[in-house]
Parts: sequence; structure tokens; C-alpha cells
Amino acid sequence: MVNTQNTPSEHAHVTDLQGGNLYPDIVPEQEPPAYIASTSPMNQAGSEAVPLTSGDHKKPLPDSPTHAPTPLMSPPVVYLPPAIPIEELRTEPAVILCPHCNTLSLTRIRHKNGAANWLSCIGMLLLGITALGVCLVPFCITSLKDVIHECGHCHQVVGKYKRI
Ligand SMILES: [Zn+2]
Repeated sequence: MVNTQNTPSEHAHVTDLQGGNLYPDIVPEQEPPAYIASTSPMNQAGSEAVPLTSGDHKKPLPDSPTHAPTPLMSPPVVYLPPAIPIEELRTEPAVILCPHCNTLSLTRIRHKNGAANWLSCIGMLLLGITALGVCLVPFCITSLKDVIHECGHCHQVVGKYKRI
């Protein structure tokens, strides 16, 4: 429309006709709703096809405010295996009937240096393996340590598994 001043009147009509082509400028205004429609359903996974065509007249469902999934408040159901006697505790956590709190609970284990660690260290000393403190390495080996079992409920020591 600004070019109509420098151009002849005949061209002015052409430009007016071209000005009529300004209607396509309105078309991009329809695209932003398409982007909004594509970004709003955040909860929708790739299961549904994303509208790629700009002429999509479908709007996001008004049910979209329910995007927050209903929280499942049901507590997790844990099935404990039958309790084993404390005398049968080994290197792995096990379900026991705690003698302190009379509760079925899974034991928590921790490791402590025991006879196996000391005997290994002394054996290496007797063999003369003392360079660079190698004889202290057995104290870092978990598989040589005794296993202390604590009640998972009251945290009292309920048993000990000794390697030797
Ligand atoms: Zn207990």
C-alpha cells in the first residue's frame, strides 16, 4: 500500500490486487493455536498422533485440566517370606521374628572384622608378606568379615554370622 505513491495508477490497481493477496497474512494467525494445541497435551504420550496439519480445527479436549494423574494412595503390599530361625542367619538379609520387638522384619546387615580377617593377616605375616602393608589387605575384604544382623524394625542386634 505504501508503494502506490511511486507507481503509476495502473500498477496501483495491480498493487491493490496484490494487496488483496494480503489475506494469506491472516493464515499464519491460525498457526499459533495449532502450536498451542500441540503443546498443551503434555500428558498425552506418543500413543496419539500429534496433529501436524495447520488446518486442524480440533482443539484440545476440555478434559485436559485433569492432566494430573490421580495419585495412587494404596500402600505397597510387601509379602515377606516365612521367618527363619536366628541360628540360620547367613551373609544375606533374612526375615526373622525379632526376639526384641516380636515383629517380623527383614534384617539389616553390616560387616565387622572377625577371626577370618585376623587369621589371614597373621598368616601373611608368618609368610613374610609384609611389603607395603599387604598383610592388612584382609581387613578390607568384605567376604572375610563377620556379618552382623540387626532387626529392621527396632535396630537391635539379633544375630551374628561368623566366618570361622
Ligand atoms: Zn526388632
